[in-house]
Amino acid sequence: MTIATINPATGETVKTFEPASDRDIEQVLAKAASAYRAHRRLPFAERAALMNRAADILEEEKNELGKLMTLEMGKPIAAAIAEADKCASACRYYAERAETFLADENIVVKDGRAWIAFQPIGPVLAVMPWNFPFWQVFRFAAPALMAGNVGILKHASNVPQCALAIADIFKRAGFADGVFQTLLVESSAVAALIADSRIAAVTLTGSEGAGRSVASTAGKNLKKTVIELGGSDPFIVMPSADVAAAAKTAVTARMINNGQSCIAAKRFIVHEKIYDDFMKRFVGGVAALRVGDPMDAKTQVGPLATAQIRDDLEKQVSATVTDGARVLTGGKRIDGRGFYFQPTVLSEIPAGSAAESEELFGPVASVWKVDSIDAAIERANGTSFGLGASAWTEDAEEREQFVREIEAGLVFINGMVASEPALPFGGVKSSGYGRELSEFGIREFVNIKSVKLSVPQGSERKTE
Ligand code: NAP
Repeated sequence: MTIATINPATGETVKTFEPASDRDIEQVLAKAASAYRAHRRLPFAERAALMNRAADILEEEKNELGKLMTLEMGKPIAAAIAEADKCASACRYYAERAETFLADENIVVKDGRAWIAFQPIGPVLAVMPWNFPFWQVFRFAAPALMAGNVGILKHASNVPQCALAIADIFKRAGFADGVFQTLLVESSAVAALIADSRIAAVTLTGSEGAGRSVASTAGKNLKKTVIELGGSDPFIVMPSADVAAAAKTAVTARMINNGQSCIAAKRFIVHEKIYDDFMKRFVGGVAALRVGDPMDAKTQVGPLATAQIRDDLEKQVSATVTDGARVLTGGKRIDGRGFYFQPTVLSEIPAGSAAESEELFGPVASVWKVDSIDAAIERANGTSFGLGASAWTEDAEEREQFVREIEAGLVFINGMVASEPALPFGGVKSSGYGRELSEFGIREFVNIKSVKLSVPQGSERKTE
């Protein structure tokens, strides 16, 4: 993919970038290796001061950073500004807690003294997607840098200016040269980077195809990975639910980020007893959304990020409709400038259709009617994905059954699935493996080192 800023609201190419040369790549790797040697020795308090400064910059410059995100990938401007704030919160979260999360843990042994140390592992390559162009990067970078690792970012090719801005933020925050670098390369350069002995580990957030490719290269090279992939998340509404609240949240849960969120609700599974009531509200809410220029604060749904994504979505929708699905609202691309698609609701989804088996990465909801909780759970689990699920019910037993039986990395009851610093984030099945955020996230890229200090038998010598 060409590395370029193309405004999705107009289709205009704003700026193109030459991919890094072999020489540039070598310099970045050498710098990362040398920066790591010093950064790993920096005390937590010093790393935390730098990370808090990065948070200050994000907060101070959130309006300009928000505009950059919207320009490059089309999310509504208010959401883009909020994304910069959310990144600041992740920086502060790890600045405050990393030392505790990585503190030595004593282990009781019969002879001598033992403990577990959590130590950095080296330069980590981060292959990131464009949909949350700042958040995806910061939720990797804040824990990684606080743990004493250094980062090299290979961002999606359509958000190069965001990628450069992020590296600049860490630099201006005072992190040493080489602690966090952006490398503008195409995806074809990733395999050689993973194979390089200076790269210790790799994290990828993106599509299933990219995940399989990166995971297999990393496997060949025995490099640790965290893989965060797509989802086709269920949103289940049971008869006891607050239907008005569920329908209102359903609109946001599907249309957030112009429908391009991994944890967006994509498959709506609604009990027959409240189906008509829910659908009237849900379809009405989707049809009333204001589609337009994402730089306009009143816009609720902007364009898709690229022409390719719009075209792929159009193919999936038209194939599903040809197979027999009903279009309740929307269903088509919007002609004219930019990569727009109508907010859409499909029902009566045929077995085996694209809407049933694939991730629809855009503003399109697919709805199923069910007659029991068992049917709802079977439908919810009936995909290869397992990222986040939302279930709406006031019944305690049903809640317990959802939590126990839904195959997903996150289950939210009576609310929309969202990522937040304190909650581990990640999927099961084809949604990937490993976790980001929380204490679990920071421990993915550390050497969990067992240490044992033996004491000679019969010795009275104190070991501390
Ligand atoms: P993508 O095409 O897979 O791209 C993601 C990143 O991987 C980009 O930097 C891309 O580079 C790179 N890439 C693509 N193919 C590669 C390959 N074969 N080897 C190495 N790197 C490769 O995904 P996307 O369209 O940007 O993002 C949308 C997908 O990400 C959706 O499926 C969404 O659900 C998922 N996602 C998951 C999460 C999560 O946390 N689970 C979060 C957000 C998004 P180029 O841009 O240069 O191709």
